[in-house]
Amino acid sequence: MNWRITKAVLPSICILIAGVLTSACGANASASTPVSQATPTDPDSATATAASLEATRASQEGSSANATEAASEPEIIIPTATAYPNRPRFSIGQSVEGRELWLWQFGSGEITITLIGGIHGGFEGNTVVLGNMLVEHFRDNPEDILPNIRLVIIPNANPDGYENGVDLNARFNANGVDLNRNWGCDWQPTAFVRDIPVDPGPRPFSEPESFALRQYFLVDEPDVVLFYHSQLGEIFLGSCDGSPQAAWLGDLLEDATGYTYNPVFNYYPITGDATNWLAERGIPAATVELETRALPEFEVNLAGIFALQCYYAFNEPDVDLTDPQIDRLCD
Ligand SMILES: [Zn+2]
Repeated sequence: MNWRITKAVLPSICILIAGVLTSACGANASASTPVSQATPTDPDSATATAASLEATRASQEGSSANATEAASEPEIIIPTATAYPNRPRFSIGQSVEGRELWLWQFGSGEITITLIGGIHGGFEGNTVVLGNMLVEHFRDNPEDILPNIRLVIIPNANPDGYENGVDLNARFNANGVDLNRNWGCDWQPTAFVRDIPVDPGPRPFSEPESFALRQYFLVDEPDVVLFYHSQLGEIFLGSCDGSPQAAWLGDLLEDATGYTYNPVFNYYPITGDATNWLAERGIPAATVELETRALPEFEVNLAGIFALQCYYAFNEPDVDLTDPQIDRLCD
C-alpha cells in the first residue's frame, strides 16, 4: 500500500473506529474561533447520519484504488443528493481527520444552486457561520425558495481547518494543504497566497475534502455554484485557460450584495482554484469574498441568493411569473 492509498483510506478508518477513537480522529472542539460555531440541528439526524456513513464507507472501500487516480477522471459512485431526495442532510465524505462534510438541500426544483462555505477553514470561519445561518434560514422559511429551485448548502468544506483556530494555519486542511489550490484547472506544484507559498497537495484532488466536493459536482451537476471566502469584499468569476466567464453572475451578485464585481483577480496568480475547475466544466461559478473576517454578512448574501433564484425564475421557461412567491422575492 503506498502513501496515497493510505491517505484515501484514512477517513474510513476513522469512521470505522469512531466509537473508540473519536479524539484521535479529531472530534474535539476548539474554543478559539471568531464567531459562533452553532451547527443547525438535523431533524433526521440519526437515520441520515447512519445511512450516509454506511453509503460513504461502502463507496470509499470500493473505490480506494481508484482514488489514487483522482487526476485522471475516476468513475466513482458516491452518495449524493439524488440518492437521498427526501433527506435534508447527508454527508458527501469525510475530512482527513474524519469529520463529515455535510450537505443540506432544500426545495425540489429543476435548477440547482449550490453554496459552499469554509473551504479556507477557521481563517475564514465567518463563511461557515454564514453557511449555517443560511441553512437555518431556508429550513425555517421554505417559502423563500422558489418552485423551480433546489438549494444545496455545504456550510463547512474544511471542517479540520475550522477546528484549528483563526490564523493562517487554520486555512489549510489537516494535511497542511490549501484546498483552494488543489483543483484541476492549472494546478501547479507551487502555489501562493499573496507572496506566501502554500501547499497545493501532491497532485489535483489529492485531499479527501476536495475529492469529495469534486465527486459531488460531477454527479449533481449544479447550475451555478458560489464559494464564500473573506475578506476582500469582492466577487470573482471562475475561468479556466481564458474560458468565457458568466458575466451575468458577477453583475447580478454585485447589484444584490454590494460587493464589487472584479472580472479579473489580479492581486496575484491563483492556481488550482475550485471555481476555475467548475468553469472548465461549463458551470457558472463565483468566489464571493465577504468584507470582513468577523461577521457572516448574512443579509446581503441572503439578498444575493434571492437574486439568483429570481434570475432563474425570469430566464427559464414554464415558470408562472404571476406566482405571488415570485412577486414577494423578486420585486
Ligand atoms: Zn479564501
